[in-house]
Amino acid sequence: MSSSRAFLHPVVHRSNLQVFADTLVERINLEGARVVGVTIRHQGKKEILTASREVVLAAGTVNSPQLMMLSGLGPADMLRRHGIRVAADLPGVGANLQDHPTVSVAMSNPGAESYALSWRTAPRVAAAPLRYLFARSGMLASNAAEAGGFLYSREGLARPDLQMTFMVGLKDNPRTLPRRHGFVLHVAVLRPVTRGRLELASADPGTRPVMNPRFLEDRTDVDALIAGLKAARRILAMPAMARYSGSELSPGPGVKSDAELESFIRANVATTYHPVGSCKMGPRHDPMAVVDSRLRVHGIVGLRVADASIMPNIIGGNTSAPSMMIGERAAEFIAQDCKGITAGASRNFIAATAHA
Ligand SMILES: Cc1cc2nc3c(=O)[nH]c(=O)nc-3n(C[C@H](O)[C@H](O)[C@H](O)COP(=O)(O)OP(=O)(O)OC[C@H]3O[C@@H](n4cnc5c(N)ncnc54)[C@H](O)[C@@H]3O)c2cc1C
Repeated sequence: MSSSRAFLHPVVHRSNLQVFADTLVERINLEGARVVGVTIRHQGKKEILTASREVVLAAGTVNSPQLMMLSGLGPADMLRRHGIRVAADLPGVGANLQDHPTVSVAMSNPGAESYALSWRTAPRVAAAPLRYLFARSGMLASNAAEAGGFLYSREGLARPDLQMTFMVGLKDNPRTLPRRHGFVLHVAVLRPVTRGRLELASADPGTRPVMNPRFLEDRTDVDALIAGLKAARRILAMPAMARYSGSELSPGPGVKSDAELESFIRANVATTYHPVGSCKMGPRHDPMAVVDSRLRVHGIVGLRVADASIMPNIIGGNTSAPSMMIGERAAEFIAQDCKGITAGASRNFIAATAHA
């Protein structure tokens, strides 16, 4: 279920909700320390939306801090470098960036049981739509990530620090179907010690910000991945899996020692697409905290952030459901704070999201 179908579709016809699709929020507008609305670019034209009460920023870990910085809310020295007038010096905006760094073991699959477009699987591929339609089974019923698990990279840990995800196919990129048969066991560090940073590349809202995840800067993260790759190899060599396996495609049989595994990890580490933390929640006395425990931006009136960027520490698992939970909590906070306020002002809240 997509978040749009779950949360937006059921209420989209409400008279006090207006959705602007294909719209870029360019700036949060402030009068002193109070947020009064946003400037958007809609159908090629600039428009100003005013907020009588507050603006809820939900543009995600990359764009929420970008929008704040474009609006003068962020590290003062960086804003000045881009010629942006500083409305509030918030050094934590864009800092504390975290993700789950990942590497994987890939095996060939001579029996062609895995998902790929090949002449051997042509009958299976051709039957897939019908199987899905009538039996809700077969290739099209799978998201390819068929199994997973959590494990400890070393003894003495209170909770698992690695996540494995088993994919029944060799996915080279998100857009094309694989041609070669094989499968992959991904290993990701659940609680990396390394923190990255996100900065503006330009004061132009249409220019993407610069992300530096600084993956593997901390030794602990590298050691966890070395242990993870070894565990992945061990699992793939077990009889239940070995009967489907051919040769190891990656890291490859030549990569054996810890030093060789480390070189492989450093050359191949990737994102799990779980960026969080760039507007972290924390108490006011923490200079790097951006929002308080009710998601309100410190020192600013009328601005909340409600997305994955507020996580102080990355969750030990996938980030989508926790992000929705943050949205649910934000809704509760807003409803509680609104108690007693007359309903009906149609533009009380403007959520910075373009996906309807
Ligand atoms: C390829 C990929 C695969 C993933 N797979 C999984 C998975 O299997 N399981 C899992 O749990 N998580 C997964 N995730 C992570 C998950 O999608 C995110 O953690 C989650 O969506 C974060 O939610 P969010 O609300 O913080 O931000 P987002 O979902 O990114 O929402 C932010 C929204 O704001 C909009 N926006 C941004 N800037 C502006 C602007 N200036 N003006 C207007 N609109 C703007 C964006 O278009 C977007 O719609 C995946 C992510 C990616 C990219």
